[in-house]
Amino acid sequence: MTTKIETILARALSGYDLSPAEGVVLLQQTDPALIAAIRTTADQLRCEQAGDTVTYVINRNINFTNICEQHCSFCAFRRDSGEAGAYWLDWAQILEKATDAVQRGATEICMQGGLNQQAKLNGSSLPYYLRLVETIKQQFPELHLHAFSPQEVQFIAREDGLTYAEVIAALRDAGVGSMPGTAAEVLDDEVRRILCPEKIDTATWLEIVSTAHKLGLPTTSTMLSGHIETKDQQIRHLSQLRLLQQTAMSQGYPAQITEFILLPFIGQEAPKPLRRRVGRDQPVLADALLLTAVTRIFLGRWIPNHQPSWVKLGLAGATAALNWGCNDIGGTLMEEHITTMAGAQGGSCMEVETLQAAIHSLGRPYCQRDTLYHPISPCLPCSL
Ligand code: SF4
Repeated sequence: MTTKIETILARALSGYDLSPAEGVVLLQQTDPALIAAIRTTADQLRCEQAGDTVTYVINRNINFTNICEQHCSFCAFRRDSGEAGAYWLDWAQILEKATDAVQRGATEICMQGGLNQQAKLNGSSLPYYLRLVETIKQQFPELHLHAFSPQEVQFIAREDGLTYAEVIAALRDAGVGSMPGTAAEVLDDEVRRILCPEKIDTATWLEIVSTAHKLGLPTTSTMLSGHIETKDQQIRHLSQLRLLQQTAMSQGYPAQITEFILLPFIGQEAPKPLRRRVGRDQPVLADALLLTAVTRIFLGRWIPNHQPSWVKLGLAGATAALNWGCNDIGGTLMEEHITTMAGAQGGSCMEVETLQAAIHSLGRPYCQRDTLYHPISPCLPCSL
């Protein structure tokens, strides 16, 4: 087995793409020495592909409503309309949060919400979403709006009888700068039937993200890991992201995937059936770190920016992930509801100085970036 792992890792270091079978073999390892070799390879590839500097973004989350028509089996955020804890921010509250973000140095607003059928203007959904964008952009044109998941795009398209391209183009023209690659969970319809049976299927998620790339809207990419999925399904998910990015690049689409974010499952406050099935409330850090390393090895040539989630892993876990293939520590967020309501212990806001200190503790340089990974302060190259 040792020779087999060494061969796989040597191939990766020579610039070859791993096969899905090779990716699964790496994920199956339990020998500490082999896991250490996987980590070292991921760290070296991170250095070659993204440099030594760890980046961060000053951003603010705005989850404009938690009223949602769906019932994902992992979601502790959603509420029915009129239920205790249900909320729907008005325009003044949205603007107040954006103003506060700008005063605190934010370059980005990340905006996602529940699928709220009441969120309509003149009976249509799209005008409501456009007003969300315009409310912020008219006041703060310099802010980058990273907004609306592929699931939200499908929701608007369905409600208004529009194509995905029409919805994406309208949002882009109103001022959306990029789309979160969330709602991906695990891109496997067997898993989705249990995890999020009402959500878009794998093919639709891929179609919407690819349409965004064709229309010049960059996206991120994510995976919700550590629940009911197998290692094969994890690698199949990564393979589909790799192919999506290869297609965007080979076809010369004007936008691509900017980063990959691993989102380990938090079950503490999640609905009971899935919690019982998974059997634990918080992520297993060792599993998340090995998957982080294998993701770097499997995807890094195509998607060079990898980010851990400090909300899910805690700052110490996210800092550790910077040694397992990650080159970015994410954003300040200022407020986070979706994962915090699920019982995450990482907190819901980070000060810039706290992120910088975590990066500095590893002896690595840091720099502030914008949403699309353009440095706002100077970045240093790999020093290996
Ligand atoms: S994960 Fe999103 S779509 Fe699913 S129930 Fe929660 S808010 Fe609704």
